[in-house]
Amino acid sequence: METQPLIDEYPQIKDLMAAKPLVWQNPDYGAPAHLPLGRADIFDAVARWQRFAPYLAKVFPETRATHGVIESPLVRIPKMQDAWAELNHQSLAGQLFLKADSELPVSGSIKSRGGIYEVLKFAEQVALAHTDLTYMDDYAVLATPHYHRLFSRYRVIVASTGNLALSVGIAAASFGFQTTVYMSHDARDWKKDRLRANGVTVKEFKTDFSSVIPMARQAAAQDSHCHFIDDEGSTDLFLGYAVAAVRLQHQFKRQGIRVDAEHPVVVYLPAGVGGSPSGVAFGLKMIMGANVHPVFCEPTHVPSVTLGMMTKLNNKICVQDIGLDGLTAADGLAVSRPSRIAGKLMRTLLLAGVTFNDDDLFAYVSALLDTEQLMVEPSAAAGFTALRPLTTAFPQFAGRTVTHVVWATGGEMMPPEERRRDYQRGAQLLAREGW
Ligand SMILES: *Cc1c(COP(=O)(O)O)cnc(C)c1O
Repeated sequence: METQPLIDEYPQIKDLMAAKPLVWQNPDYGAPAHLPLGRADIFDAVARWQRFAPYLAKVFPETRATHGVIESPLVRIPKMQDAWAELNHQSLAGQLFLKADSELPVSGSIKSRGGIYEVLKFAEQVALAHTDLTYMDDYAVLATPHYHRLFSRYRVIVASTGNLALSVGIAAASFGFQTTVYMSHDARDWKKDRLRANGVTVKEFKTDFSSVIPMARQAAAQDSHCHFIDDEGSTDLFLGYAVAAVRLQHQFKRQGIRVDAEHPVVVYLPAGVGGSPSGVAFGLKMIMGANVHPVFCEPTHVPSVTLGMMTKLNNKICVQDIGLDGLTAADGLAVSRPSRIAGKLMRTLLLAGVTFNDDDLFAYVSALLDTEQLMVEPSAAAGFTALRPLTTAFPQFAGRTVTHVVWATGGEMMPPEERRRDYQRGAQLLAREGW
């Protein structure tokens, strides 16, 4: 791709090409827009989750205590806020929270929202078409052998860097769907092992996510009984993520967090293909409106969503087009081409994109464990890297009355060796001069 015309039009591309950490301020933020989805779509998803709650409580015992609701805690992290101040040689005004999707039941990541939701929707569609199920039935019935036999005649296919495969694989296998996941080179072995243990077929590829996904799409297209979960453009995934906003609104209220013009909330979301952060961000804007400000965080080597939005080319451009290698230690973010829908829907809803160096992730992973005894995977620490550049670029969000929410997107299911390795890498960095 010829980059000079792009540089002429969007000078910040030069910094993206040089893999320099930057803040891209979205010039269209807050402009009026006609969106193809709205609040009614979110509440349709809320209702579907509710219909399935008895099923989830039955099949996933860890959701029994919450009666089949899959939700994560919103945690105040004052000790981490102090540690952050020490590491950054400046204090952070306002209050710092962690939205701990790292603890979400079933898959231990944000993918428990979108991935499971799309499987539920497909199961409901199959059941309604082929049985006497009604919307008012107790959906726990879907966990009986009669339904299992029906579902076993259908297939679910998904491509993933790891976590989406985990959530889709575990959920789809629970219904009895024949499930195949296509894994990119960066997917961790323990995730593949775990899926195989659940009866999921795992296909491994030596290439990156953006080239694996068309193969999965093509395989699915050849089978009329097959449902393809398309991480590059699925509306169902998107709406599954968006439901988070309805829950968060209630958590804010219960914890006495005000959301108004004097008390803005900034939400920091790590972005890979852009689906999960866009779904959540869309939900936040639809449910809580103008005073919640979503920010995407991406590795300097894989700023795919920022690149797509900056150039307005969205999925028509990938990070290799501007000479980047697309490599990152944050496996959930190793996606070089953005989603078909994320950038378009975020056009007027995203405050900014912020990029970071990989090393910073590990430093914050260690600091978070040291201070709050919370372990997250490297991708999930991305929000901490964006706090300083964001509040510098937007002084209106540097004040005392601002609430900062770092969305911790995954981590619960990491094996102990992996945790230890990530923690140690961060601890070594923190011990170095300059931190
Ligand atoms: C999937 C994932 C992301 C990013 O989500 P996208 O939909 O790919 O943008 C971030 N962090 C973790 C831990 C993930 O699993």
